Amino acid sequence: MSRKNRVPLSDRVVTAAEAALAAQHFVSAIDVLTGIGWLDSGAVERWRRGQIDCLEEVIQTGLPGISEAMRLFQAWATARGLLPSETAYVDRTARRQILRFSRSGNPAIEAAYRTHWVSPELSEKKRERMATKASRALELVVIQPLSTEWTCHRCGGTGDLLMMEKPGPACLRCVGLDDLAYLPAGNALLTRRAKANSTRHAVVVRFSRTRRRYERQGLMVEPQALADAQRDREAR
Ligand SMILES: [Zn+2]
Repeated sequence: MSRKNRVPLSDRVVTAAEAALAAQHFVSAIDVLTGIGWLDSGAVERWRRGQIDCLEEVIQTGLPGISEAMRLFQAWATARGLLPSETAYVDRTARRQILRFSRSGNPAIEAAYRTHWVSPELSEKKRERMATKASRALELVVIQPLSTEWTCHRCGGTGDLLMMEKPGPACLRCVGLDDLAYLPAGNALLTRRAKANSTRHAVVVRFSRTRRRYERQGLMVEPQALADAQRDREAR
């Protein structure tokens, strides 16, 4: 056991799980594995974007360790009286594929990873709303910042558009969306066609100071998809 890991695994699992529960009223396996330092959020993000075959590939320990942490997590959640809620994990690409956690693909193991443990203190309605929100695959959201005084946390650069990641804003080149073309909102038919033709897309939003909320500005789509949609329109 290295000096860094002198705290027993069971304590580390409980600390990570309690922190996540306090912050969001539910805990997932990903929260725990991230909380104990076996998984970094960048890797989770790549996995959610469909760039990694299965999550276990990027967990920084072997299968025995993972199984032990999962067992401790479930024992804690059960003892704590939390309610299991199976959550669909779908990748954040236009393909919306079911994400795989384990190398084995064993259904019971997959289900254990997918299960969110929810605080029983929440009302049933709130729990339902939370489950719906978690299950809905998040759309990729690109932000048009109000000022260009921001720095990409990965490369130190800046730009007209950014994506928020856990550590901070990232430029489109770093998140791998810089090849997409911008299509401003306003033409519903063109937007719908370009989106349908594009295997990847992202919604562009901008914060409105007067309305105090993010508002949709347009869409990022593959340039070819946009060109095809424009040609279709002209052909009519
Ligand atoms: Zn960058």
